[in-house]
Amino acid sequence: MRFSAVIVAAGSGSRAGPGQAKQWRLLGGRPVLSWSAEALAAAGADPLVVVAPPGDEDKARARLRHLPGLKVCAGGATRAESVRNGLQALAADPPEAVLVHDAARPLVTRGHVETLLQALEGADGAVPALPVADTVKRADASGALRTTPREGLLRIQTPQAFRYGVLVDAYARWTGREAPTDDAAAVEAAGGRVVAAPGDPALMKLTYPEDFAMAEALAVQARVTRIGQGFDAHRFGPGDSVWLCGLNIPHDQGLVGHSDADVGLHALTDALLGAVGRADIGEHFPPSDPRWRGAASDQFVRHAVELVREAGGRIVNADLTLICEAPKIRPHREAMRARVAELLELPLDRVSVKATTTEGMGFTGRREGLAAQAVVAVETPA
Ligand code: MG
Repeated sequence: MRFSAVIVAAGSGSRAGPGQAKQWRLLGGRPVLSWSAEALAAAGADPLVVVAPPGDEDKARARLRHLPGLKVCAGGATRAESVRNGLQALAADPPEAVLVHDAARPLVTRGHVETLLQALEGADGAVPALPVADTVKRADASGALRTTPREGLLRIQTPQAFRYGVLVDAYARWTGREAPTDDAAAVEAAGGRVVAAPGDPALMKLTYPEDFAMAEALAVQARVTRIGQGFDAHRFGPGDSVWLCGLNIPHDQGLVGHSDADVGLHALTDALLGAVGRADIGEHFPPSDPRWRGAASDQFVRHAVELVREAGGRIVNADLTLICEAPKIRPHREAMRARVAELLELPLDRVSVKATTTEGMGFTGRREGLAAQAVVAVETPA
């Protein structure tokens, strides 16, 4: 099912304590808003609409510029108005389904999205619901308590999934004096059928300062670390220099290859692609394509970095091993690290370039060519 998402991040969140609005507060080192935006984009929401506080649109665009299909619009005076603005941003090319989500629930995952879309198959709307575990009472005007049966009571979370046309229509027909407290309320009032999907305590809403401590603990489980590895080898041929890790190193031979034959960057590209399950360098840059003849290999790395970002991923570190008898790597090692760190947009201490010989054995030992291995760790939404 083709679906879009609207993330409402337009609130000021005064209950979360003084300081900046909660969508910009850091959780696990990233703004609260980035968590759900990256997770929903990685789950396939396209376009992804972020409804930002008026005046914060550029900030949202800058923070989330790596996400494909991002649209940013300004929020309104109430949550319902903000949702309407978000839905309007999708009107030109209406999706089949839309997920409406509060940025204050950062720990949404692909699994939540799949469950909701499945539940939506036979309904107009599907919402994550949790049973009420505590005893529920109502206080009357005098303060006296009366116990309310909790059977059938559900706590409702976001994201909430709807057929796009149904939700737009429901908001257009909403006649209540107060704005609906959630989007499903508008669809229910319009006679639509909203069903419950399993909720998750991890979809907790960040409301009070103490909620952030709980979310920090849960955040660890909402991301997975993936490992990618790559290997490449090229044969020596005529020439007076070789390209290695983006640097041109003087040598009494060159390397034979379709592109610049930079084994370090080729192994690194394959490691990045491997971490997000996106095939290999030959698939993205076929040697049969004349565009890549003599091409500088940093563009292969940049493309792979882009695919990692599209998957909602962040590169954690990279470790490269160059395997050759010559040229000597040590004099160039720090410059290679710096170049790789620059390409991956990582601090220097997250990048390692090592070198080894094979003690005269094998093709590298016979100086027929050189080889490289790369390992990267990438953190992505679970
Ligand atoms: Mg190669």
